[in-house]
This record gives sequence, structure tokens and C-alpha cells, in this order.
Amino acid sequence: AKAGGRNRIEFFEAGMQTEVEERLAIEHDMQDGIERGQFDLHIQPQVDASGAVVGGELLMRWTHPVRGAVPPNQFIPLAEESALILRLGDLVLQRACEALAQLQRQGLRLDLSVNVSPRQFRRADFVDRVREALTRAGARAEGLILEVTEGLLIDNWADTVSRMDELVALGLRFSIDDFGTGYSSLAYLKKLPLYELKIDRTFVRDTPDDPNDTAIVEAILSVSKHLGLRVVAEGVETAEQADFLRSRGCDCLQGYFYGRPEPLAAWLARQG
Ligand code: C2E
Ligand code: CA
Ligand code: CA
Ligand code: CA
Repeated sequence: AKAGGRNRIEFFEAGMQTEVEERLAIEHDMQDGIERGQFDLHIQPQVDASGAVVGGELLMRWTHPVRGAVPPNQFIPLAEESALILRLGDLVLQRACEALAQLQRQGLRLDLSVNVSPRQFRRADFVDRVREALTRAGARAEGLILEVTEGLLIDNWADTVSRMDELVALGLRFSIDDFGTGYSSLAYLKKLPLYELKIDRTFVRDTPDDPNDTAIVEAILSVSKHLGLRVVAEGVETAEQADFLRSRGCDCLQGYFYGRPEPLAAWLARQG
């Protein structure tokens, strides 16, 4: 037993070593990748109940020369543990504003949604950075939607609300991403300056077959209607899901059924 324990400890330590090394390597590569322009944006369309494109969500992509396409779930959580998420966040915000300016110059009223990480949102000068990105790009704030998660609301409630109010005053709108997966109180919904909720795709996935998920989706739609919030269903993959969601009054749909994320530049070139 002793020998086994010892082996396990050695194995564990060796494992930790490589994990730490791996993280450091990725962090270093991210830093490098930012400088070399390896990060860019994809966009996934959002459609209204009639199927017309009303905008899209911007999703970060990292093309690493050796690792290839690194999915956001592999680098965003790591970036969030360091200041790198701030640099990536700035990059996304600037690119989003440029894209928005391009759409607005063409007279297109499409909304662009941007994911904002808690660390980025809580940064002391976040509001200034948003304002500067808009000014630099020559974009009006009206087309920009910031997606934040429920986790943001757990602490610093007063600061969070006043910051949101400031950004709303600039013309931006707020969306609660992955709605239903986090902070479970509905009471906060009416106290925040919100524009929309995004139903997490784990709830959408098994509708309309699963009665529990179906009930949850219906409840979210009903509450939102009463509060005057737009609802986006994410992860819509089938016609059945789309029909169900539309029949229950869902305003906006997003998912592989309507379109996969694609490079932003190519999408922009096709608009107008
Ligand atoms: P999210 O904000 O919930 O984004 C939706 C994710 O679901 C995207 O994955 C999208 O490609 C995927 N998706 C869309 N439609 C479908 C569908 O029909 N079926 C399935 N199975 N999946 C679908 P992606 O692009 O890999 O992004 C993963 C997460 O990374 C995002 O989740 C978001 O939390 C984070 N992320 C992406 N871009 C950014 C960014 O610019 N900033 C920050 N802070 N986070 C980002
Ligand atoms: Ca999102
Ligand atoms: Ca989401
Ligand atoms: Ca998600």
C-alpha cells in the first residue's frame, strides 16, 4: 500500500508539473498571439421569428501556428485568470465597433452582441474604454449589445448596476448570457437595466421532448414577456426546436440551424 501511495504521489506531482508548464506555455503563446494578430472574430447570426437576420453574436477565435484552431473554452478561462482577458477584451471591443461602424455607414440596422467577461466589466475604466472604442471606430452605440453572465451580479451589486446604467445612458444594451444556469433568483431581473435574456442552450437542447426543459423555457419566456425583455434562444439546432420556440413567443433565435459562426470579415462583406 505504501509503495502504491508513493507512486501515486509521484504521479500526481509529475502531473501537476506538466499542467503548470502547459498553462504557462499557453499564456505565453496567448501573449505572443495577441502581438502577432492570431486572434480574430467570428460571427453567428441571430434571426427573428420570421427568419430575418437581425444581427449576430461575435465569438473569439484563436488560430495558433502549431496548435491550430484553439476553441474559446480552452483559452478564455485561462485568459480570465490573468490580465490577458483585458487585452483580448479590448481587441474584441475595438473590432466590434469597427464592424458596427461599417454596418451603420451602409445604413444597416443590425445589432452586434459582444461577450464581456466579469473581469473586463469590473475594470475601473471600462466605461471609458467602451466610449473610446466607439469614438475611434466612428460607431454609434445603439447597435451594440453587451452579453454578461449572472455571475457578475453576485457581488458588488450597487457598482454593477451603476456601471450598467452609465453604459445604457451611452446607448448600449445589456443581455444576460447563459440565463438559467447561474444565480437563480429572478428578483434581480426587474432591478437591472436589461434588454434581453439568452436562454442557455442546455435548456434548448431537449425541447420540446423533455417536459422539464420545456417547462423551464416556457417559464423564462413568460417572465420575460411580462418584464418587457427580448429573449434569444441559443443552440437552436433543429426545425422542431425552432417551431416550438417561435410558437411560445421567442423573439430571436440563434444556433447551427440558422448558421454556424463564420469569419466576421466575410459576413460583413455579404451584408447590404
Ligand atoms: P457562449 O457565449 O455561450 O457562446 C455560444 C457558444 O455556443 C459558441 O461557442 C457557439 O459557437 C456555440 N453554438 C452556437 N450555436 C450552437 C448550436 O446550435 N449547437 C451547439 N452545440 N453549439 C452552438 P464558442 O464560439 O466556442 O464560444 C464558447 C464560449 O467562449 C462562449 O459561450 C463564451 O462564453 C466564450 N467566448 C467566446 N468569445 C468570447 C469573447 O469575445 N469574449 C469573452 N469574454 N468570451 C468569449
Ligand atoms: Ca454569449
Ligand atoms: Ca451563451
Ligand atoms: Ca455558454
